[in-house]
Amino acid sequence: MKLTDRIVAVWPLAGFDKTLHYRIAEGQATQVFVGSLVRVPVGRRFTLGVVVEVDAQADLDFDRLKMVSQILYDQPILTGNLLKLGEWIRLYYGAKRESVLETMIPAPVRQGMAAKQDKFVSLGSVPSAEDLEALERRAPKQRALYDFVAQQIKAQKKSLILKRLNLSPATYNALLDKGFIREESRVTERVAYEDEMGAIEFADEAKVVLNEEQAIVAEHLRSDLESATFSVRLLHGVTGSGKTEVYLNAMQATLEKGQGILFLVPEVALTPQTVGRIRSRLSRYTDAQTVVWHSHLSDGERLDAWMALASGKAKVVVGARSAVFAPIPNLGLIVVDEEHEPAFKQDETPRYHGRDVAVYRAYLEGALCVLGSATPSLETYRNVARGKYAIDRLTQRVDNRALPMMHVVDMRQEIARTRKSTQLSTMLVEKLVDRFEKKEQSILFINRRGYSSSMLCQDCGHVVVCDHCSVPMTYHRTDETLKCHLCAAETAAPHKCPECKSPKIRRKGMGTQRIEDAVTRVLPRAKVVRIDADTMSRKHLFRQILGEFRSGKIDVLVGTQMIAKGLDFPNVTLVGMVDADLSLHIPDFRANERTFQLLVQVSGRAGRGDLSGEVVVQTFTPHADPIQFARRGEVDSFLEFEAESRERFQYPPYRHLIRQVFRGPNPDKVAFFAAQFAKRVGERLNGKVEMRGPAPCSIEKMKDHYRFQIWYFTANVTQVMAELVSIAGEIGWPADVIQVLDADPVNLS
Ligand code: ADP
Ligand code: ZN
Ligand code: ZN
Repeated sequence: MKLTDRIVAVWPLAGFDKTLHYRIAEGQATQVFVGSLVRVPVGRRFTLGVVVEVDAQADLDFDRLKMVSQILYDQPILTGNLLKLGEWIRLYYGAKRESVLETMIPAPVRQGMAAKQDKFVSLGSVPSAEDLEALERRAPKQRALYDFVAQQIKAQKKSLILKRLNLSPATYNALLDKGFIREESRVTERVAYEDEMGAIEFADEAKVVLNEEQAIVAEHLRSDLESATFSVRLLHGVTGSGKTEVYLNAMQATLEKGQGILFLVPEVALTPQTVGRIRSRLSRYTDAQTVVWHSHLSDGERLDAWMALASGKAKVVVGARSAVFAPIPNLGLIVVDEEHEPAFKQDETPRYHGRDVAVYRAYLEGALCVLGSATPSLETYRNVARGKYAIDRLTQRVDNRALPMMHVVDMRQEIARTRKSTQLSTMLVEKLVDRFEKKEQSILFINRRGYSSSMLCQDCGHVVVCDHCSVPMTYHRTDETLKCHLCAAETAAPHKCPECKSPKIRRKGMGTQRIEDAVTRVLPRAKVVRIDADTMSRKHLFRQILGEFRSGKIDVLVGTQMIAKGLDFPNVTLVGMVDADLSLHIPDFRANERTFQLLVQVSGRAGRGDLSGEVVVQTFTPHADPIQFARRGEVDSFLEFEAESRERFQYPPYRHLIRQVFRGPNPDKVAFFAAQFAKRVGERLNGKVEMRGPAPCSIEKMKDHYRFQIWYFTANVTQVMAELVSIAGEIGWPADVIQVLDADPVNLS
């Protein structure tokens, strides 16, 4: 045997980004794999690390290598592909390896939490007839215990037997001492395979027959799965066109091949119906349990779920962003539902995008990745146009139900007519009353993405936009100015509309509370319930409200667009969008896209049952492109229109963007370091990137920190990121200036 056979390479989970080498004792060599969690000595301390290579070549003499001191679990906690995925994330998003590992591996696993052991009881040595008789006479309880164990087909849990026979541990121990029963410790699971979501009723979906369009798409997915090579497909289907049904079909095909599935949703708590449907549909694949991966799992559940996946016992994960790291060894299918959702992007280091990581993982695994949406992101749309992704379409709602009719209400006229600033237009009020009288339900949405800091003319709808960057300028109360956050252009805040000279140029914003009050005033007898951030954080309250809404106890639901996702309430025939244009005025090149997506998603909530639906959109800019495209239901035309404008400005997806934010309590100091950084980039990366800034961030001051940003446009993120990380490493940062890099940023505030 070669000496090198017994050297392993290890990445420590904390402390530093280095590969260390250790020897492994001969007896342990068969228990260690790529991805195993080990405890190793570093200096005079011990640390946990992941094995990245088992037959490694060390740079040290074999004799001088230290030994691995412990292997923590029988099975690896990461797969080889996940280790590769982690490296890609590290390089692409410019993160430290330890922060990537920390994000990929859940805390209880990373910390080596022990699996829960239970004692199992089975028969021991065979008693003679006299033994049994003696037991019967002198220790009838022990005899009863023996008889019970003898009747069992397989070993039973000790705790359950004692409870069932109502026996004391003393009785049990006495029989155990005699050797007639024996016990062994086994790992049992706390996996939350079941949860409250099971309470939702589902129609007998096993009987669903795919319609013609669905069948064609399902056939494409099945043939991709059959070929077992990497591919990405966009499933572009209008809301209610039966996308989920198609995913389920492909999921069944994957399980039939014995492969695992990753199903990603923007937020698990908001998609209880989808989770329930997946569970109930896959429940007949008894060898392929479904794990729901969400933030409410206990540490024990998290550990057990992880191990169940790593061992192949559970083959399906449904979860948000971080579920993309589930240690499924033989992955066949990844579904990213609502792929356009910003929630897939992590807003802290490592700032990865769950959808993009999913695509890269599918590439590493040779798996099929399906991206589903009614309103695909420009990024995905462009990948389709370039032939990198295939596309499938579902153009009809199931059963040819009509898409809801969308009315656009011009709030400028409304205010001119009523002579007061109202939250609810006459049309919306009339329709709310009508629905209440017909015992149908309504939902009112408020645009939480709206941003109150841009200035909007209430007469002509004009918004002040930067000449150089085509984004709205942001109002700064401190010095009464409007600033561009891309190029730092600045102008005094106008007192009159620059377009129509009206003095009614204002900042806009409105809360759920005010809308709830307004609805209560017009419908005093109706039950109106508001869902806000507070409700959302209380899982049970949220569920309870949805349950009451479903059962018809609530007439009008008021909330932000967060409640729009995945909800399917057949009795909802009216959806109101109270302030549609607020998201148009955020200083973000995706403002149009977000507004359009919002309107389409929100209107998809109306008319999902047998009754047809209507949507009322209130806006000060009725002719804004996204509103008009949404009104006509023209998704493709919108995408083309928007792609053209992005191309003109060479914004993503035509180039990648890396955003760098500098912050700290002293604005001059922060600005100085931002300028220093920019100078070095100018010297080192001259011609390789287009740089904009430094300029103030749109949220200029956050938690007493002043914020500046630089934008880098490039075609090659990994290359530019490596340079930026290296420059950041050369600068002697003071403790009170913090710098953060974000590749393909979603949050530009
Ligand atoms: P989407 O995911 O595109 O919004 P869903 O898959 O949720 O659409 O389908 C909408 C509704 O139509 C669901 O209640 C679903 O059970 C039902 N449905 C989907 N496909 C069919 C079908 N082929 N036949 C009957 N009902 C279907
Ligand atoms: Zn005006
Ligand atoms: Zn500008």
